[in-house]
Amino acid sequence: MDDVVNFFGIERVLGEDEDSDSSEGSSVTPPSERTEDQVDYLRQESLISYDTSLPGLHVYLGNDLQELSGRTVLDEDSCQTIPIISLPGVVLMPGQILPLQLFNTATISMMIQIINNDRTFGLVNSRFSGRMFSNTLETVGTTVEIRSYREVERIYGGNFLRIKAEGRQRFKVLETKTQSDGIISAKVQILPELITTDPGECSKLSSLNKFRNPPPNLNSKKETNEYQCHQLVHRSAHKYNKFDFTNYTWFPEFVYKLYDPHILMKRIKEALKYWNRTDEKQDFMPCDPKEFSYWIAANLPLNDKQRLDLLKLNEVTERLRLELQILDECSALTCRDCMNIIAYREDIFSMSLQGPQGTYVNPNGYVHEAITVYKASKLRTVGRPSTEASWFPGYAWTIVECERCSCHMGWRFTAVDKKVKPVKFWALCRSSIQNTIAGASHPTDVYV
Ligand SMILES: [Zn+2]
Repeated sequence: MDDVVNFFGIERVLGEDEDSDSSEGSSVTPPSERTEDQVDYLRQESLISYDTSLPGLHVYLGNDLQELSGRTVLDEDSCQTIPIISLPGVVLMPGQILPLQLFNTATISMMIQIINNDRTFGLVNSRFSGRMFSNTLETVGTTVEIRSYREVERIYGGNFLRIKAEGRQRFKVLETKTQSDGIISAKVQILPELITTDPGECSKLSSLNKFRNPPPNLNSKKETNEYQCHQLVHRSAHKYNKFDFTNYTWFPEFVYKLYDPHILMKRIKEALKYWNRTDEKQDFMPCDPKEFSYWIAANLPLNDKQRLDLLKLNEVTERLRLELQILDECSALTCRDCMNIIAYREDIFSMSLQGPQGTYVNPNGYVHEAITVYKASKLRTVGRPSTEASWFPGYAWTIVECERCSCHMGWRFTAVDKKVKPVKFWALCRSSIQNTIAGASHPTDVYV
């Protein structure tokens, strides 16, 4: 059986139920109740044969975008005045790709200025609140750097701008100013990225270094003299333990392990394996703890508040610990308004190399964060399938809404070429879904 890159890069096979074409309106069998026959059917029928590198290219924006070179890194804790755009339903994480299609003349001229300058603007989430239902900006956001762009002339006059950008650094909004043309500029403070240093460093005596076990992957060829060779043989009889230093401290080993970023990363990967109940194959996840924490934040089906809570944290360890906690509390995806269960976490998979969740823009300029699931229920389709500006080239999209409350939930994608697997899948709007616990919590040992 061929390997497939699936949810969070984990190896598994992709499946649909037997009544795939009539699944809207029916209930999805919870994964825990799926029979062996159903699982076997899923294995046989549904492998990914799609080129998963295509969605990340955003080819619906056109292949003629002009690439920009150079990168801007703003000093941590420094105060900057940058132009801001606000998008409801979007909380951008550093490293996340942001496609935009802009039609407003003032916004386009602002972007052209930015492109000619340091290519950086700010993005903040906004929500409608209060008695007057006014648009309120969040207090934290992300700097966005424009990677490529193209100004397109419309047939019936005027221009619009296509942009592909990337989230870079987090910031806190200190004050905002709205110009007469509606453009917002803000004074922001760039938030620092704090990483816990080795807590055992202060308890290690450098004079004892020669007796310590070497970390794995030590290049033994460098140790040439007889004494060092002897030491290497002697030390190799003992297993390397980076927490040996705890013998000299007040706290036991497990306390340090609760805050070790690499151990937290391992536990998150273990938790994700449970989501799929399959073998580990997570090669394309970032290895660096900071990048890993943002990758997880960008790909989990979180609501805006959870995303913002993660975005506010300066410390990588804190972010990883919160993600681990959220992972434990999420087992199903429901409609945000009526709490109808739409899909289970086991149904999430990656149609894109970037992960199961991506940011896409429609031809009208609306930006959606969408997560792909191979099975969804209690949804009804609206309108006919269309291949126009499809986010997944080779698939036609059809709008789907909640069967109970008619809330827009996302799209069903069906393969134009029926030989392509999966034949169909769903992309659910992150802003329309709510993660929740359905039934018993999983037995993963989470002790955050
Ligand atoms: Zn609903």
